[in-house]
Amino acid sequence: MYWEKEIETMDRGGLEKVQMARLRETLARAKKSVHYGKLFAEMGLDAGAIRTVADVGKLPLTTKEDLRENWPYGFLACSRDDLIRMHSSSGTTGRATVIFHTESDVAAWTNLLARSMYMAGMRRSDVFQNMMTYGLFTGGLGFHYGAEKIGALVIPAGAGNSKRQIQLMRDFGTTAIHIIPSYALHLASVFTESGYDPRRDTKLRMAFIGAEPHSEKMRRKIEEFYGFKAFNSYGLSEMNGPGMAFECPEQHGLHIWEDNYIVEIIDPATQKILPEGEEGELVATTLMREGMPIIRYRTKDLTRIIPGPCPCARTHRRIERIKGRTDDMMIIKGVNIFPIQIEKRLMEIPGVGTNFVIILDRVDYGDQMTVKVEVQRGFFGGNLQQLETLRRRIVEEIKTDILITPKVDLVEPDSLPKSEGKAVRVIDNRKD
Ligand code: AMP
Ligand code: ZN
Repeated sequence: MYWEKEIETMDRGGLEKVQMARLRETLARAKKSVHYGKLFAEMGLDAGAIRTVADVGKLPLTTKEDLRENWPYGFLACSRDDLIRMHSSSGTTGRATVIFHTESDVAAWTNLLARSMYMAGMRRSDVFQNMMTYGLFTGGLGFHYGAEKIGALVIPAGAGNSKRQIQLMRDFGTTAIHIIPSYALHLASVFTESGYDPRRDTKLRMAFIGAEPHSEKMRRKIEEFYGFKAFNSYGLSEMNGPGMAFECPEQHGLHIWEDNYIVEIIDPATQKILPEGEEGELVATTLMREGMPIIRYRTKDLTRIIPGPCPCARTHRRIERIKGRTDDMMIIKGVNIFPIQIEKRLMEIPGVGTNFVIILDRVDYGDQMTVKVEVQRGFFGGNLQQLETLRRRIVEEIKTDILITPKVDLVEPDSLPKSEGKAVRVIDNRKD
């Protein structure tokens, strides 16, 4: 049941002691880096002032801009000779941030992934197909090492090439996959087109899905199609990547591995720490990173801590699935909207296919939102009346949620651009 029972179920007092000891080491190490060395000196920060885990709130926040300004080596707390691995964020805007790992960093990260996958139920008897991009993105090598540590047979399939993915699954009896949720839906349509049904024609029994926001409805749709359990996996490259927070078999919130991270939820506007249970921006401090410790990193991801214990008996607190990133928020006619709100509605409507995109334009000085939605293959048999009924229903459902009437265009299956990595959900033409 547990990969490391003692630490996974340790009482909160014990866990805080572990955190405190590791925080002290982290601060001492961070001070050696150019960035924190300078910052701590300027602040006159005395490590003695940090007596409890809650005191972490007295430390300065770190932002993506800090990482960029200190690019590439200004956060290093060790010699470059001690590094064995580099990864980077998949950010499409500006310079991608890079993260370096020592041997012990990779070992600690690998262990967290093994712990996470084991928690969800993967074992050495599993055949694990990793359908994530290998390379700088953390989802490839991160999961790969973790699955090998469990002792599963790993197929490093990488992303894309859907027909081959299905072939691999069938040839080698794949039981577990790691896949981006939007791609899982796309792959579903390739299964159908190829005349295969994953329930009948594969041995798939579980999936790890993550790397992008997705709703509970989308998870259920994926689970239903494939006939497996899909576990939400969350992380960001600045905090290693996946393995930071993961769902247990309860599938109700993601346990944050608090022996490796201290997490806080702040109000993104005021930067004040919010009480447990309130929604805000996740801020995280690494506790086990030797090469490049990062303190109070602003993830820009919106979530909340789920108060109370989890029936699985793990004591590490849970976060709710990520609602979106502060910078994904669309402001349309003055209303704040997240793409996941649209996605959630679409996933409930029969006839909706596997992909959609939101396009924002400025028309006559006002905002206009267009949602292009792929329809399900073969669902309508060319019946225009039915298509129009579907279109109207989508308009109504979205309007009920966001109080804005969108323009909805129905399009053919597979006609919208799809990405092998994180889905691009919003095209904002309003920015000039
Ligand atoms: P990267 O560092 O490029 O791997 O991107 C990390 C970002 O991907 C996070 O900050 C989140 O915004 C997003 N992300 C990763 N996993 C999830 C997940 N399970 N649910 C929602 N968003 C996620
Ligand atoms: Zn649990």
